[in-house]
Amino acid sequence: MKSPSLETLAVHAGRNDLAELGVHALPIDLSTTYPFTDLQEAVDSLDALVAGEATASNPIYARLHNPTVARFEKGLAALEGTDGAVAFGSGMAALTACFLAARAEGKNHIVGVRPMYATTDKLISSGYLGFDATWTNAEGIAEAVRPDTALVLIETPVNPTIELQDIAAAAKAAGEVPLCVDSTFASPVLQRPAALGATLVMHSGTKFLGGHGDVMAGVVACSDAWAKRLREVRVFTGAILHPLAAYLLHRGLTTLPLRVLRSQETAGILAERLNAHPSVEQVLYPTMEGGDPHGLVGRQMDGPGPMLSFEVKGGFESAGRLMRGLKLITPAVSLGSVDTLIQHPAGLTQRMVSEKARAAGGVSAGLLRVSVGLEAPNDLWTDLEQTLG
Ligand SMILES: *Cc1c(COP(=O)(O)O)cnc(C)c1O
Repeated sequence: MKSPSLETLAVHAGRNDLAELGVHALPIDLSTTYPFTDLQEAVDSLDALVAGEATASNPIYARLHNPTVARFEKGLAALEGTDGAVAFGSGMAALTACFLAARAEGKNHIVGVRPMYATTDKLISSGYLGFDATWTNAEGIAEAVRPDTALVLIETPVNPTIELQDIAAAAKAAGEVPLCVDSTFASPVLQRPAALGATLVMHSGTKFLGGHGDVMAGVVACSDAWAKRLREVRVFTGAILHPLAAYLLHRGLTTLPLRVLRSQETAGILAERLNAHPSVEQVLYPTMEGGDPHGLVGRQMDGPGPMLSFEVKGGFESAGRLMRGLKLITPAVSLGSVDTLIQHPAGLTQRMVSEKARAAGGVSAGLLRVSVGLEAPNDLWTDLEQTLG
C-alpha cells in the first residue's frame, strides 16, 4: 500500500498496538511507577530511558516514559513525516527543551526571527536560559549565524501578524545550524516543515492539536537522534505530558484535518468580508493583497490557514468596543479551538515584548486576532458586522 494520506494517518497513526491489546479506544495509563520482577531488567530499562531511548521493557517511572504519551507521539510523528516526536506539558516546555537540547553542544548563541510569540521572545531575551540572542528578520538569518550558534528559530505563520516565513530558505540560511520551526498556526494539516529542512518542528498542542480548549501541551517532531536528546532533557527537567492530556491530543488528531480545513475555509470568507468593511483598516491574511509576498501558499503551506488578524480604525478604544459588542465570538486568548476566539495582541499576548518591538513587528493598537472555529460562517459574520457598525 502506498503511504496513506494525512486524513487516514490522522485516524490510524500511533494505534498499531491496540489490536494486540484487544481494545478499540486509546488506553490511558496513569501509573506513576511500574512494578518489576527482575532487578536486572529494571536496571537495564532505567539505563535506556535515562539515556533518552524511546522504549524499554519496563517504563520504570512516569517522568521517564508513559505508554499513552508515546502512542500520541507516534501519531504526531506520522503526520509530520518525522522519525519521532517528544511531547511536553506545554508549548513553552517543548521550546525550552529544544533550546536546552541544542545547548548541549556547548553553543550559546540563538538566532530568532521577529516578530514571534511574545512568551518565546521573552524566554530567549530574559536571560534565564543564559542565551546570547540575535534578533533579525528572514533576510538576516545567514548574516546572524555564528560558529557558536546553537539554534535558529522561526515561527510560521507568525503569531499574531499571520506573516509567512520561508522554511526552506531559512533552513538554507541556517546551514549546519539546526532550524526549529514553531508550526503551531499551520498544524501538520497545512505544512510539514521537516520535509523543507527543519530540524525541529514544534507545536503548542494546546491549540489546534488538542482543538477543544481543554488541554495544555507541547510537542516536537524530529529525527531519532534529536528525539533521544529531547527525551533526555525531558527526563531531567520533568516537563513530560500528562497521560490524560496525551489521550485528548491523540483523539484530537483524528478530527484535526476536518477542523483545520473547515476553519480555514471560514477564515477566507471572513477575511474577504472584513476587508470590504469601512471600519476595517486592513486585514492580515495570506490571501489579502501583500499577505504572501513570496508565494508560499501552495508551495510551503497547503492553504492560508485558520488564523486571521485585522486592524480596526480607531485603535485601542475601537478594538475594546468591538469586542464588548460581540454576542457569539468569545473574547479570549489562546486559539485553535472549535469555537471562535478573538483577542487583542498589543494588550494581551504581545504585551510582554517592548512597545518598540511590537510596533516594529506591526502589532498596532487596533489589531485584533481571530482564531476561527467551526461555527457557520454567516453566523460569525453577522456577529462581527453588528458590532463593527
Ligand atoms: C500558544 C503558543 C505557544 C506556547 O504554547 P503553550 O502551550 O501556551 O505553552 C508557542 N508558540 C505559539 C505560536 C503559540 O501560539
